[in-house]
Amino acid sequence: MRIAIISDIHANLEALEAVYAFLDGQSVDRVLCLGDVVGYGPDPSKCLGLIQERCEIVVAGNHEHAVLGLLDLDYFNPVARHATHWTRDALSKAELEVLRSWPLTHVEDPLTLVHGSLDQPDLFDYIQTSWEAHLSFQQLKTPVGFIGHSHVPITFLLSDVIDYSTEDELLLDFGNQAIVNVGSVGQPRDGNPDASVVIFDPEQGMVQRHRIPYDIEAVQAKILESGLPEFLAQRLADGR
Ligand code: ZN
Repeated sequence: MRIAIISDIHANLEALEAVYAFLDGQSVDRVLCLGDVVGYGPDPSKCLGLIQERCEIVVAGNHEHAVLGLLDLDYFNPVARHATHWTRDALSKAELEVLRSWPLTHVEDPLTLVHGSLDQPDLFDYIQTSWEAHLSFQQLKTPVGFIGHSHVPITFLLSDVIDYSTEDELLLDFGNQAIVNVGSVGQPRDGNPDASVVIFDPEQGMVQRHRIPYDIEAVQAKILESGLPEFLAQRLADGR
């Protein structure tokens, strides 16, 4: 069994299509998604359609909750707020209902899916420090948890202490729990602008990260044409 896990597509159609094309050659059995399918990018509707076509399970991200009015926009900076209003106008009622149908967490042996953190999934906290990882490990009931949200790929490993790894290939020891941030498809922020995707083999415990280049300039042109903030176009090339 090979499971692809993607997150934070952010309405970036070119990045999502490039990831799907890559997965076509990877004999993947399932595709799971960790949310933030919409928000920031110019193609929320088309990305939502592609996610529904191919992703077996999707959990909701903070951008879905913001678009649905379930999250206070005071948490968002002005650029994110602008993009949220733009996205809400761009989606149909039926599409908004699809976003509303997504749960905050999904648990099945041996994995848990959540967008932000496990201790308070509805608050969409980040897991960036050992302490934040500790709070989520306390709630993790499966050997491995998959998260997105920070757009930075990293794996937290629990043994006597909490360690972390940024290796592209990691063999998990199911005796010790792990929380894997799969990075972002549509707006990476680790300095590498290529789309990020993880393939997980639950029998072996193998986690492999892949980075997929895509046509960034095409997305930037669409962002500028659509009236979304220019900063959202710039940052794609920087991967920040
Ligand atoms: Zn995001």
